[in-house]
Amino acid sequence: MKSQDELGVAVPANKPLIVRTIKKVTKEQREYALKKTEYSMFSFPADLIFVDFLSDSGSGTMTDFQWAALFHGDESYARNKGYYVLLEAIRDTFERGNNPKRSINLILSGETNVKKLMDELYITTYEGGFVNGGIHQLTRPNAFIVPQGRCAEHLLFSTIAPILKQNKDIIYYIPNNGHFDTTEANIVANGIKAVNLFSGNLMDDFPYDEMDKRNPFKGNMDLRALENLIQEKGVEAIPLIYVTITNNTAAGQPVSMNNIKEVHKIAKKYNLPLFFDACRFSENANFIKEFEDGYKDRSIPIIVQEMFSYVDGFTISFKKDGLANMGGGFFFKDKGLFHKKFSINEDIGIKLKEKQILTFGNDSYGGMSGRDIMALAAGLYEVVKETYLNERKNQVREFARKLGQNGIPVILPAGGHAVYLNMNKFFEGTDMKIDDFGGVGFTIELLKHYGIRAVELGPFAFEWDKKTPEQRKGVLNLVRFAMPRNVYSASHIDYAVAAITEIYNNKDKIPKVKVSRGAELRLRHFQTGLQPIYKN
Ligand SMILES: *Cc1c(COP(=O)(O)O)cnc(C)c1O
Repeated sequence: MKSQDELGVAVPANKPLIVRTIKKVTKEQREYALKKTEYSMFSFPADLIFVDFLSDSGSGTMTDFQWAALFHGDESYARNKGYYVLLEAIRDTFERGNNPKRSINLILSGETNVKKLMDELYITTYEGGFVNGGIHQLTRPNAFIVPQGRCAEHLLFSTIAPILKQNKDIIYYIPNNGHFDTTEANIVANGIKAVNLFSGNLMDDFPYDEMDKRNPFKGNMDLRALENLIQEKGVEAIPLIYVTITNNTAAGQPVSMNNIKEVHKIAKKYNLPLFFDACRFSENANFIKEFEDGYKDRSIPIIVQEMFSYVDGFTISFKKDGLANMGGGFFFKDKGLFHKKFSINEDIGIKLKEKQILTFGNDSYGGMSGRDIMALAAGLYEVVKETYLNERKNQVREFARKLGQNGIPVILPAGGHAVYLNMNKFFEGTDMKIDDFGGVGFTIELLKHYGIRAVELGPFAFEWDKKTPEQRKGVLNLVRFAMPRNVYSASHIDYAVAAITEIYNNKDKIPKVKVSRGAELRLRHFQTGLQPIYKN
C-alpha cells in the first residue's frame, strides 16, 4: 500500500467552515456594469464577480486562531494590549527563529497574574533589534504600525527626502530588484528616482513539468547592475538599497538567500543601508527551503531569521502573505546604519514618529483597530507554518501548470502568490501593439464573458506612453492572477483555466483599449476611465 505522500496528490491541509454564496450574474449584466464603470477593473463591483484574482492583498481567509485572537482586540486609545502582543510577535518572527516567546498566549489563555503580565508583556524593556521596547521605544522609536504597506513607504520616503535635499546638487536613486507600484510612486512623489534591477533570466522559458524539481529564483536582483549603478551615480546618490521578497513586480518570483547575502555584501562595502520590502517574507522563505541548497532541513522561522539578519530595516504590508486583512509597518535596526545616516540634527525615529502621529495615529495603533492588531499578531504565527505555506504554493503552482499544459504563455515557474501571463507572447501573431494595451483588453473580455477579474501589470499600469525609451526597457507586459489565500478551491481554478483558454483561442477578438479619461493621473490604473475598441 502506498503511503499518504506517495499517492501523487497533495494531502489536504485545511477545511473552510464559512460559506459565501456567489450570485448568478449574467454576461449582459456584467457588460452593463462594465460600461457604467468605465471598463476599469478597480471600479467594478466585487459582489458581481464569480472568481476574483484582482489581488491577494487583505483578501485572504483568516484562520480560527486569528478569529479567536480578534475577539481579544482592545480598542483603548493608548497602549492597547494588542500593541504589546504585536511587538513581541514581530520580534518572534523576524529575530527569534526557533525560540519564539509567544506572549500572545498570555492574552488568549486569560492570564490573570498581574506580576507575570507586567514582567513578560507590559513593563519590559528591549533594545538593539528591529523593535525597541519600553523606555527605548520612547527615546529611540524604531517600530511604526500603519494601516497599509504604502503608508509605511510614505512615512519613510517623505521623511528622508527633505533630509536628502539639504544637498541640492544631488539626484538620488533607489535601486530595487523590482519596485512595487506604490513603492515607486512614493519614491517618485518625493523627488527621488526609482530604478528596477530585474534578474536577467526573468523572461527565460521554463518547462511547466519541472516546477516541483528546481527553481531559478528569477526574483533576484541583478548584482552587476547594482554595482554599476552605485559606481556610475556615486555612493552619495544612493540613499538606500531595497530588495522586495517575493518580487511582486517581477511576476511574484522568489529571491534566493544567496542573492540576499550578495546584495548585503555590496551594501556593506559601500556602507549603504539595505532594506526589505518584506510583503511576502514567509512565502519567499518557503521557496528557499524547497529549492536552495542547504535549507531543506531548516525551519521556516530559522530561514526568516537569517534573511532578516542581512537587512537594516524593512517596510511591510501585513495584508500580504495571508497575514491579516489590514495592516502595515516600518521597522529599522536600533542604532543601525539607517539610524546613524539619517539622524542628522534629530533622531530619525523621533521625526518618523511625529509624522506617524500627524497622519495615522499614535504609535500604539497607527491607524489600525485593536481587533486588526490582534488578528495580525496571531497571523504572524500562522504564516510560518509549512502546511499553511505549502497549501497555497501548490495551489498557485497547479494553476500555472494547468495553463501551461493548455499552451497559455504563463511565466514559469509560478511565483508565490500569483500566476502571470506574458502578454507579448500571448498576442504573437496578432496586430496588437504594446501601446494598444491588449492586456487590459484581455481582462475586460475575461470579466465580461466569464465573471473573472484579473489585472494588467504592464504598459498601461506602468505608463509606457509617459516613459522615455530607456525607462520603457524596465516595463514588463504582464497580466496577473493573484490568489487570495484559502478562498478558492480546485473548481474555481478549473473554471478560470477553461475561461482563459477559450479567450486565448479567440485572441484576435480581444479589443484594443484607449484611455478615455485621466491618462495623465499618477497610479492611473486605479483611477482612469477606459474604452475598448471592438473590431466590428
Ligand atoms: C502590496 C504591496 C505593497 C503595498 O502594500 P499595501 O498594503 O497595498 O499598501 C508594497 N510592496 C509590495 C511588494 C506589495 O505587494
